Amino acid sequence: MMLTVTDVTVHYGTFEAVSGASLEIGDGEVFALLGPSGSGKSTLLRGIAGLEPLTGGTVAWDGTDLATTPVHRRGFGLVFQDGQLFPHRDVAGNVAFGPRMHGASREERAARVRELLELVGLAGYERRRVTELSGGQAQRVALARALAPRPRLLLLDEPLSGVDAELREQLAVDLAGLLRAAGVSTLLVTHDQEEAFALADRVAVLDGGRILQAGPVREVWRRPADDRVARFLGVTTVVDAHAADGVVTSPLGTLSMNVEDGPVRLGLRPGALRLDAGGDIAGEVVSLAHRRDHLRLTVRVAEGLVVQAMAPVLADPAPGDPVRLTADPDGVAITRPS
Ligand code: ADP
Ligand code: MG
Repeated sequence: MMLTVTDVTVHYGTFEAVSGASLEIGDGEVFALLGPSGSGKSTLLRGIAGLEPLTGGTVAWDGTDLATTPVHRRGFGLVFQDGQLFPHRDVAGNVAFGPRMHGASREERAARVRELLELVGLAGYERRRVTELSGGQAQRVALARALAPRPRLLLLDEPLSGVDAELREQLAVDLAGLLRAAGVSTLLVTHDQEEAFALADRVAVLDGGRILQAGPVREVWRRPADDRVARFLGVTTVVDAHAADGVVTSPLGTLSMNVEDGPVRLGLRPGALRLDAGGDIAGEVVSLAHRRDHLRLTVRVAEGLVVQAMAPVLADPAPGDPVRLTADPDGVAITRPS
């Protein structure tokens, strides 16, 4: 059971919104398309769904080209940012819609609705009006509705971006568990790297309609293909370094990292460096900004090298203070000099 997208191109008039995109999604795999706004994510998803005509390339399921298969016969479940529930139907009516279209009996539909509401954590909500749901609940119902006809592929376009920031983190965790429990192959579109990394097995980074890099999430996180991908994945500072025998030496000192010998570049994310009185990196605070649950420090660590570092809210250093930092290799990406 596999989706194969080969060299897909989509135009709006003369504008090429997606250029030669190829990807595969295997059985039960969650694949994220990650990219900034306007990079062509929704267009590619819509092309795969059959909602947007392709100007080149193919979309195939198990080797069968879907070019002549209309949207509703592809067996794909769709969830968009705002859920788009049927406002005049209650929760059960929304979830039962697909099975009803497929000719399921009343009993089968009721059983399926119960099972799915259980799965999305809304057991007992059958008779609730969808206009009386919170944003998070509405998205759960949209997901249950998409899963109800047992789709062979789930297509999710920014399913959490309409939800409050506080709730979004929890919903992402729930959604990850839910997709695993449902075991359904999924293509997730998001501009939020944390969401992509929390949910997906593999990720493709899209920009300007092109896939810049695709691979297992950890690999893409640790080894961005170039500085552009690295910056999109949260890297704020890039430092030239040299690797020898598993030790990377840079103006930040030495870090143990599993990397081939030779010149490398370290991509630092804000979480890569943190305030630590016993740390080996000495610097001076340039400025600081308060974040929800930490302080973001800007620190000058060596001639001309200014980095971002995290500190606990209670640390409260002042600009000009000498500080010491520790590097966490988990927050450091490695790229090769181009
Ligand atoms: P994303 O989902 O990554 O934000 P989209 O796929 O929606 O990006 O859009 C990709 C590009 O195509 C953007 O430049 C957008 O303005 C353009 N675009 C999207 N939809 C249309 C349309 N219906 N007609 C013309 N241009 C469009
Ligand atoms: Mg979009």
